[in-house]
Amino acid sequence: MLEVKNVVFAYPDQNTPWNFHFSVEPGQCIAIHGASGSGKSTLMNLLAGFLQPKSGDILWQGKSIRNHAPWQRPMTSVFQEHNLFEHLSVETNIGLGIHPGLKLTQEDRQAIERGLQKVGLGEFGMRLPGDLSGGQRQRVALLRAILRQQPLLLLDEPLTGLDSDAGDILRQLLLEQKANGTLMVLASHDKEDRRILADSACNL
Ligand code: ADP
Ligand code: MG
Repeated sequence: MLEVKNVVFAYPDQNTPWNFHFSVEPGQCIAIHGASGSGKSTLMNLLAGFLQPKSGDILWQGKSIRNHAPWQRPMTSVFQEHNLFEHLSVETNIGLGIHPGLKLTQEDRQAIERGLQKVGLGEFGMRLPGDLSGGQRQRVALLRAILRQQPLLLLDEPLTGLDSDAGDILRQLLLEQKANGTLMVLASHDKEDRRILADSACNL
């Protein structure tokens, strides 16, 4: 279980701090809901370890991960900026997600190929991210995160701006992940995404 216990945070120039408090079970998805500027991305950064809470705690399976570095946390994130390496091919970007040293097994390579086909990018493995559309980059970022197979998936508006076919494919992929026991924290302002994917909600 992920427990976010009275996590208080404010940026230096901010008067009223946030206080985040919720918990989520494996295989469940919580939707983080709020207007633009309400703190959804801030919460994602706190969970991922890129920001430090002023007080409160974050627990995974009953143990605090509050002081763990981002790479020590049992999670992977898809941020709004996608964070793809622009000088590396789509395949290598995804491969680095699975193995930072790129020691990929035949099985890993097949999983990448199957994944790319699944998200409609079967022909795009050797392209550079700069030669993809925004929606295609988004699919690569999401696939990379999913193939990392961490128990927790942080999704910051992962389906925003996708056309409806690509959106359907990715929603299906996320539902499969959930069925496999992945816990998801989903920031989304899209009512339909929240209805299809989320089991509970946290309103900011
Ligand atoms: P959301 O993702 O819900 O749109 P954000 O978490 O990005 O909201 O931002 C919440 C608020 O915090 C906004 O008012 C934003 O301007 C402010 N903010 C975000 N990042 C910083 C920062 N690094 N320094 C100061 N204020 C920030
Ligand atoms: Mg945001």
